[in-house]
Amino acid sequence: MSGLYLHIPFCKQACTYCDFHFSTNTSFKAEVVNAIIQEIKSRSTNWVSKELSSIYFGGGTPSLLAESELAEILNSIGDCFDVSPEAEITFEANPDDINEKSLKVWKANGVNRLSIGIQSFSDEILQWMKRAHSAEEAMRSLEIALEYGFESSNVDLIYGIPSLSQTRWEDDIERVLNSGLKHLSAYSLTLEPKTLFAHQVEKGISLPPDDEKAKRQFTYLREAIRQKGWEHYEISNYCQPGYRAKHNSQYWQRIPYLGVGPSAHSFDGTVRRWNVASNHLYLKKISSNNQYWETEKLTKSDKINELIMLGLRVKEGVNLHSLKENEGIDLLARNGEYIASLLEKGQIKIADGYLQLTDEGQLYADKIASDLFV
Ligand code: SF4
Repeated sequence: MSGLYLHIPFCKQACTYCDFHFSTNTSFKAEVVNAIIQEIKSRSTNWVSKELSSIYFGGGTPSLLAESELAEILNSIGDCFDVSPEAEITFEANPDDINEKSLKVWKANGVNRLSIGIQSFSDEILQWMKRAHSAEEAMRSLEIALEYGFESSNVDLIYGIPSLSQTRWEDDIERVLNSGLKHLSAYSLTLEPKTLFAHQVEKGISLPPDDEKAKRQFTYLREAIRQKGWEHYEISNYCQPGYRAKHNSQYWQRIPYLGVGPSAHSFDGTVRRWNVASNHLYLKKISSNNQYWETEKLTKSDKINELIMLGLRVKEGVNLHSLKENEGIDLLARNGEYIASLLEKGQIKIADGYLQLTDEGQLYADKIASDLFV
């Protein structure tokens, strides 16, 4: 079994903070869709598994696909792979594209889960972010997604924004937890180079992300979801019990996934591969049969570091026994002093052979992971 990720590299407008690969010029959309179909066909012939347990349309903005484009992509996937009848088929959609017509189309084509890019329920913040939707559209998209049976859908929110007050954040969380949808991904605002946000900070027009505020808002979110009986199963992901995201969970477990489309990443168990992050070059190289990707074969230490980093991000933690038996690394012996200091500070715990971050430790997840790297 494996997952399939499709990168749809088009957006209506550029969001202030975003550094994903996308273009606002949609005049080549049909060509890119055809090239994606070509890539699905060619890569399916030697991919590690014919069986798909999940399909994820990400981007960019997949909700910009026309019905015929979505149907063609899904038909080609069906021709090339065995899609499990229980497969999770997720479609990233922005609130301004969610309406009765689009929901019917997505449902009829087999999409069974949405990931809705809300980010905030404040018009002022949405305008600063240069999102294409309003707070009212955001609320309406949640209601209508639920009406059409997409209750397992995800909502994306961002915190740590300089103008996001604590009251506003608490209200954002409340709206999601009361919406009837079952999954939330919440990310701290980051300052990425070459974004409009980076430019604004450099010019003194915007304040940078507020780390202390981000910690407070993250801490509040964890408490709020626990009180509602939700599960915090990955550092940025929360759900009602039984509603973990299947596709993304495969990333954290290092299960192979095939990534198709400009900038998409793949992992076959040993090699990481990424496609060129340019629509123009992707089209040109696919049509002329030239290489449009780069690869990196993971070394033994790359693999161990990934197991540590990904393990610390998930609720279950790092499997110490498996690390010792399969990779020959006894983390407790190798990093004994450091681990003892983290235990003393209450930043980690060891339970049933797993090394887990505590609430306090999650605030330093990246630092702890890199300190443990081999
Ligand atoms: S819609 Fe999503 S992918 Fe497109 S610019 Fe905004 S955040 Fe980035």
